[in-house]
Amino acid sequence: MKNHFDAVILGGGVGGLALAALLSHRGMKILLLERNNFLGGRCTSYEKEGFVVDAFIHMFGRCEKGPYGEIMKKTGAEGEIRFWHPTRENPFVLLKNGRKYPFPNPAYQTPAEMEQTYRQAFAATEADIHSLRSMDETIAKMKYSETFALDDTPMSSFLKRFPMSRELVAFINQQVICLAVANLKEASAGELIRVMAYYQREANVGYPLGGCKAIPEGLARIARRHGAELQTGVKVERINVEKGLATGVELKDGTVVSAPLIISNIGVKETVLRLLDPATMTEQYRDYAESLSCGKLAGIGTIAIHLALDKPVIPDSVAFSFPKDSEIPSLARFLMEFVLQDQIPPTTDPMNLALLPVSSNMDPSLAPQGKQIVHLPGLAPLESAHWKDWVNFHVDYLDTFYPGLKNHILWYDFGTTSMINHYSGRFQPDIVGLAQIIGQVGKSRPPLKSPYENLYFVGSDTGSDNIGTELAAESALRLADLIPKKP
Ligand SMILES: Cc1cc2nc3c(=O)[nH]c(=O)nc-3n(C[C@H](O)[C@H](O)[C@H](O)COP(=O)(O)OP(=O)(O)OC[C@H]3O[C@@H](n4cnc5c(N)ncnc54)[C@H](O)[C@@H]3O)c2cc1C
Repeated sequence: MKNHFDAVILGGGVGGLALAALLSHRGMKILLLERNNFLGGRCTSYEKEGFVVDAFIHMFGRCEKGPYGEIMKKTGAEGEIRFWHPTRENPFVLLKNGRKYPFPNPAYQTPAEMEQTYRQAFAATEADIHSLRSMDETIAKMKYSETFALDDTPMSSFLKRFPMSRELVAFINQQVICLAVANLKEASAGELIRVMAYYQREANVGYPLGGCKAIPEGLARIARRHGAELQTGVKVERINVEKGLATGVELKDGTVVSAPLIISNIGVKETVLRLLDPATMTEQYRDYAESLSCGKLAGIGTIAIHLALDKPVIPDSVAFSFPKDSEIPSLARFLMEFVLQDQIPPTTDPMNLALLPVSSNMDPSLAPQGKQIVHLPGLAPLESAHWKDWVNFHVDYLDTFYPGLKNHILWYDFGTTSMINHYSGRFQPDIVGLAQIIGQVGKSRPPLKSPYENLYFVGSDTGSDNIGTELAAESALRLADLIPKKP
């Protein structure tokens, strides 16, 4: 392997690829090493019998108006990744009380129309509407710099300023779980306000044309166009350090690649605890790495079921379901009594489907003509002796919303929580990376620069604000600004 690279990037997730695109466009010679035989890490798709199947279930909050747009603009590649967006004619839908409503979202609704959904679906009173309106206005008006003062305030405390019905609080909690993968008590108000303000202002939620893999593929095309070398199937075993200076990486076969810059996309905790010699770090830094947390929700299992249908059964592009107020306690019971015990419930009564993307309704090329691909998430044990029964349970439940769907399944695949590690290679099967919780966001987020000279981090563990893939891409933008330009 040649040793004349300006930087070596470890890991080809969205963060690593976004950085490879930015630095190679700048004229730097980049080598990216990815242990899987494919690029994209947790954000990827595979092909099966003419269908494009996303490995997990992803939606994207900011799309062209967020970090992806900025990367494409900076690298002269506008339009390299294109997105589908919901419209007034084709909105996200909310399934509730056996009825369908437009899901409240500023991408296709005016504030008055969103309030209408709250009135109809949640029986919101004028006092509830007043609180929702004040909350939105507070978020919209708060200056970016002011949000950091709320970084250590739980979102639940911030919400108390806006009294509203129990059911609306539960609905906001569901949105917070989707936005932060943390509940109202763990999630930081400052971080959520920053993210919610982007969503309000840009109103640009969407899904990549070509499926989730279109994002890593688009970033990889930009990087390769500018000379980056992206190698798959290459695992980095160790980062070499001499007198506090990262000098290169060592591969499984003993090959050493030296470079003046080493950037890790494999996770902060994993980089420190797996690839660096403990003798090169202080006890304090090792303890810090050990203390980084994936949050409580990383311990709750989910299953992502991908259904290939022989005809388009579901008319909606993305559906969210929400239980009736009376069913909320049964959801907790469902978790405690059944999911955690790996027991299939006797009925499908407890509702737990939250987000149902029908990807071929967003991009028809993802399924053969006249067919449909649907992604169905559900709560499930971390490990199970009855995966097939859990699939059937969730499909039966989906069938209550779209009767007859069961009869049109050509085949199904599913991804379980424990499979996330296969894609990310991390210690834990965490969804977004380090948890978006108090103490790990805003100014407390792990920094881009490590204490080692020349060793940096990129990916959804680091950066500033945002979540998931968009945080990973955003961290690449921030890091590219930090890395000195070549003379
Ligand atoms: C079920 C699920 C749902 C999600 N939903 C959303 C969503 O709706 N929206 C959203 O934006 N995000 C979502 N995410 C989160 C998002 O996928 C991740 O936050 C993001 O993809 C992380 O990107 P990354 O670049 O930081 O790391 P990763 O994707 O983890 O990439 C790290 C890469 O490093 C490689 N690697 C690891 N060790 C080594 C080594 N020793 N040598 C070489 N390579 C190595 C891995 O193979 C991997 O490819 C979801 C994730 C999951 C699992």
